[in-house]
Parts: sequence; structure tokens; C-alpha cells
Amino acid sequence: MGKLICIDAGHGGTDPGACGNGLKEKNITLKMALKVGKLLSECGFDVVYTRTKDIYVALGERCRIANSKKCDAFVSIHNNSAANISANGIETLCYTKNNLAYYIQQNLIDELNLTDRGVKERKDLYVLNSTDMQAVLVELGFISNAKEAELLKDESFLDRAAKCIVKGICKYFNVNYEEVDKMEKVKRNYKYKNTTKSFDVVNWDGNNYIAVRDLAELLNKKVKYDNTTKLTIIED
Ligand SMILES: [Zn+2]
Repeated sequence: MGKLICIDAGHGGTDPGACGNGLKEKNITLKMALKVGKLLSECGFDVVYTRTKDIYVALGERCRIANSKKCDAFVSIHNNSAANISANGIETLCYTKNNLAYYIQQNLIDELNLTDRGVKERKDLYVLNSTDMQAVLVELGFISNAKEAELLKDESFLDRAAKCIVKGICKYFNVNYEEVDKMEKVKRNYKYKNTTKSFDVVNWDGNNYIAVRDLAELLNKKVKYDNTTKLTIIED
């Protein structure tokens, strides 16, 4: 049976969390929670959310959800904010230092190239001291920092960050992280001289990949594979 992970999107509803640079923390944490949850499911985890919409959920209720479902881990997602607008970086908070926190923090730092503020113990945080399972709280960058706020507006940055968090969870539970970048197949029309043809191409990382045979067909060429030389030969 898969491990059950509680994903907690910080704040929500009437509690916006940190606000600044055109951002509200509650919106980023929700986006991140849904991304993390989706990736976790693809890796074979079962996922419980404390919220999947922009609603207020009390801290006690968040813990009750995780405790009553007997979750194996609780991962809360937040963004930082400080009066000093130059404050920046990522930190992972926990009640007692543990590998789940270290693995998540390490993956985020390795991939995102932001300041490593480290793993920190926080005994005072309700969701850390009132959850029965291993619990961590990720502070993914500072909303109050203009540069990091720009990153937090970038969907691809959030995707990368979500992947890092999931990789950390996978490592903690000894689950093989499957590369979950799905290659998307799309139809594209290509024109050569006066002929337009439609082919299935694979879109990956923003590039379209067309099969050599399809390209040759479009260009009125033949493709042969020579088994002796192991060469693919394109002929007129
Ligand atoms: Zn927060």
C-alpha cells in the first residue's frame, strides 16, 4: 500500500498570508500544493489535502485531517516575508530536525539556485507541534523580495519547485522518483514546396520532434536502414 501524504496549502480564504509584489501567499501555496499532490499521485503515493480551494481552514483542523487519516507525512507549503526586502532564500522548518526536511531542502537548493537558509527547528508552529506524523513546513522564497516574487509568478518555476519537494519525499520513503515529464503528442502541419502534410510530433521542453521517416516523406525522400553499417540512409 502506498504511503499517505498530507499536503497542506498554507493560509486561504479570509487569511491571505503574506502579501506583496502583486502576490498573495494563499494563492501560491494552493497552486504548489496541487502540483505537489498531482506529482505524488503519479509516483504512487496517496494524497490528502487540507484544502483544494481558496477557503479558510483553521490550523487545528489541518492537523485533525492529517491525524485522523493517519498520514505518514505532513508537508505544509508557505512563502516567507520579511520587513527587510533583501531577505531571500528557502528554508524548511520542522519540530525536530529530520531527513524528510533535509531531503526536501536539499532538492530545492540543488535545483533552484536560491539561498540555502537551511533546515530549522520550530517548536512554536502549530502544524508542526500538533501533527502526529513527520511534519515539515517549506518556506519557498520571499514574497517580500522582488526578485523571488517574480520567480513565484512563473508557473515553470513552481513546477520545478514542486518536483523538488516530491523528489525529497520520494527519497525519504525510498520510492523511486519517476521522471514525470509527460511528452505531449500534437498534430502539426508542415509545408514543403507546394505540399502541406500533417504529422504527429512530440512536444517536449518547448520543441517539436518529428520522426525522420515523416520528415523524409514530406521532403519526398526515402529512408532506409542499413543493418550492416547501422546507418539510417536518406535517399532521393
Ligand atoms: Zn505562511
